[in-house]
Amino acid sequence: MTSRRDFIRISGLGVGGLAVSATGYGLYRDLAKSPLKGSELSVDTTRTPTYCEICFWKCAGWVYKNEEGKIWKIIGNDEDQHSNGRFCPRGTGGPGMYFDEDRLKTPLIRTEARGKQVFREASWDEALDFIAEKMKGIAEEHGPECTALLTHGSGGKYFGDLIKAFGSGSIAAPSYAQCRGPREVAYYTTFGEGVGSPERTDIRDTKCLVLIGSHLGENMHNGQVQEMSDAIDKGAVIITVDPRFSIAASKSKYWLPIKPATDLALLLAWIHVIIEEEWYDKEYVAKYTFGFEQLKDHVKQMTPEWAYGITTLAPDLIRKSAKEMANAAPAVIIHPGRHVTWYGDDTQRSRAMAILNALLGSWGRRGGFYNPETVAVPSWPHPPFPEPKRTWRDAFPGQYNLAYETIASGICDATIPALSRACNFKAWIVNGTNLLKTIPNSKKVLEAIHELELLVVIDTMPMEITGWADVVLPECTYLERYDTIRDSPHRKPAIALRMPATEPLYNTKPAYWIAKELANKMGLGEYFSWNTIEEMLDWQLKQLGSSLEEMQRIGVKTFERSYDDLYFQPEQEMEFDTNTGKIELYSTALAAEGFDPLPKYTPHEEPPQGFYRLNYGRAPMHTFSRTANNALLKDLMEENAAWINPKVAGEWGIKNGQYIWLENQDGVRSSFPIKARVTERIRWDSVFMVHGFGHTNKKLSRAYGKGASDSELITKVLTDPIMGGTGMRGNFVTFKFEPKEEEAAS
Ligand code: SF4
Repeated sequence: MTSRRDFIRISGLGVGGLAVSATGYGLYRDLAKSPLKGSELSVDTTRTPTYCEICFWKCAGWVYKNEEGKIWKIIGNDEDQHSNGRFCPRGTGGPGMYFDEDRLKTPLIRTEARGKQVFREASWDEALDFIAEKMKGIAEEHGPECTALLTHGSGGKYFGDLIKAFGSGSIAAPSYAQCRGPREVAYYTTFGEGVGSPERTDIRDTKCLVLIGSHLGENMHNGQVQEMSDAIDKGAVIITVDPRFSIAASKSKYWLPIKPATDLALLLAWIHVIIEEEWYDKEYVAKYTFGFEQLKDHVKQMTPEWAYGITTLAPDLIRKSAKEMANAAPAVIIHPGRHVTWYGDDTQRSRAMAILNALLGSWGRRGGFYNPETVAVPSWPHPPFPEPKRTWRDAFPGQYNLAYETIASGICDATIPALSRACNFKAWIVNGTNLLKTIPNSKKVLEAIHELELLVVIDTMPMEITGWADVVLPECTYLERYDTIRDSPHRKPAIALRMPATEPLYNTKPAYWIAKELANKMGLGEYFSWNTIEEMLDWQLKQLGSSLEEMQRIGVKTFERSYDDLYFQPEQEMEFDTNTGKIELYSTALAAEGFDPLPKYTPHEEPPQGFYRLNYGRAPMHTFSRTANNALLKDLMEENAAWINPKVAGEWGIKNGQYIWLENQDGVRSSFPIKARVTERIRWDSVFMVHGFGHTNKKLSRAYGKGASDSELITKVLTDPIMGGTGMRGNFVTFKFEPKEEEAAS
């Protein structure tokens, strides 16, 4: 039996160390210019509420300071449903972001052509005047709709309001087309609702959790990992489908080491077995679903034996694992995953998972998927936003009609001039996202950047993207600012406050201040008519029956649900927000758009001789590329490694720990070498690496040149025709033992 402690210890790989050090002060000593001195252990009894910005899970917590008023530690808020009072390893390392001496410190304006990082320091006034004038010029010449916001993080609300007030509707988060978009479209077309964030998975009460290419534990989504540990303690069966023996696989009753790129065949075979064996929830299917007979016909030939030839998984294993799901139903979750942009048929693969959940009756049932509720935080009154004359959709006539959010890669495509495009973007505001690492095919991203008349980057750290900006605006970290009220959905509706624990270091400013000042300079001040952020937040909170004073004291406020509908009630009549009002096993929305209404398996390209499929993922102590320079987290994991099967390593003569270069099918070689990790825990046909390393910006003194970047090896993009998601797992790598000549020379 695996206990919670075992699970966290294994999944954390250093969590223990962090728990001791980061909540004490050991790791802070490693900071080159740590502001902490002798009295670190004296704790100020005051604490300020925050919600974590190290990842999008947004756990609420408390920031403590030492006697000198310096930030000392962060712990979870017991009232918070996202964290249950406990932060994950990355979250406890949050102060490393604040103390990082490599931070952006003052506004910068480019002085030489793009491609050279030559900037001069500017005052805020000068930098914002420069941006405002440029934006107004672009609006006059091309129209305000030729500006776009690309954002990830809390500042998006303020910059979003700014760009909408300006007259543009193009606001994109890479977390949609590069991450969760296909699953959201799949669940909307099936259930009429998305999965959301945090996911509405009722893991704490599940009896069977199926993870497909999803490595919870290494992927440290705090609340989910805690619930998974609890579920394991209570005897839940875990089924993990992954070519890699992940931490989750090590906790699983069944590990299905699938041949990469064949998951859809497995899902269809599972659907076949569950229907043929009559293991589906007959009452639920009859009452709530549409298209069962079409589905039954569709999967008739898709037997486990058929899937065996594709997936390499034994038919008996497919049947046994299907039986486990049926035994647990409806307390079973085929987890929808998060980063699901793999092979370009991702909406269809996610649809197959949604269908399986529907057959097992887990949607709306305890231990399956609960019905979340959100607090509706009112907006500060402002004039209506002008209607944009064109949007990003005009650049893709007839395409991606089922995508309900803007596609970041679509903005990028529509920035490169083409006769067929109605709108070429001329200005980007980029906030909190290192686009050169988040959007695949960085060559294309750079091509788009070269077409821009203005690129503004607002961030806390110098990243690859800041090097290409015309103006760089230094945002203060989440520990130094107020932000929007967190209102994410959960079992109970709740709000959380982030407030500054300390004054901003250097000449940095919060997003709300930057947006408001810029709005004033652009003649849009009426959209930001509050005098202070405190006034605005207090007004919002009072509409909800709270106040800023109360939230500063309690940090998190949880409300009772409006309806008793966390799960469907027995016999309850339900109308789903689909064309038929039913859960659509057969999707009428997809059929209307000319796509397959039922998911079909189509084979994907195989690696060429001597190449291996590049798979990538997460480690529990890092978030994307944004934490690689964090002194606290870097100590836990300084570089990534390439996981290589021993048979393959033997053929190439690669030793464990040896540094090698990876080169992809297009001849792109990693800028830096990566350490080989020779392990039986990965199939022979795959190579795995953790995302977010191999930074090329020398201003990141700790992260520069550490490990290799998977992003630069992802040059082939398999676009999902349904919603424009950028499939990134169609890339293959081989091994090299030296850098490319030009890199060696430089
Ligand atoms: S999961 Fe961890 S990193 Fe993400 S918000 Fe929560 S504490 Fe922060």
